Amino acid sequence: MPIYEYGVVKPPRTADPDSTASEVGCETCRAGFQAMQKMCDPKITSCPDCDAPVERLLGAPSFKTSASEKTLLSTDNLGKKGFTRYDKAGGGEWVKTAGAGPDSIRK
Ligand SMILES: [Zn+2]
Repeated sequence: MPIYEYGVVKPPRTADPDSTASEVGCETCRAGFQAMQKMCDPKITSCPDCDAPVERLLGAPSFKTSASEKTLLSTDNLGKKGFTRYDKAGGGEWVKTAGAGPDSIRK
């Protein structure tokens, strides 16, 4: 699941240097926060802590691992890492699909 970065929506600068209008949000959203979301989840529009308006920051979402789970758990990779993988063949028998173990095992 990708992680998206959010930050508080900064109000437009005002001419008045003493204005406190720039003090929007809490520590969480002023520093920016990350949310792990599905691609199809709606964007977060307000800070979970203080309800200030937030926006999704530009940039590609970051994924937890660079290699996909499918690659990591592939038959080839498991064999290379020293794992032996068995697939259920039915009747209590398991047939080896990767690794150096016995060709089949029986429960
Ligand atoms: Zn906040």
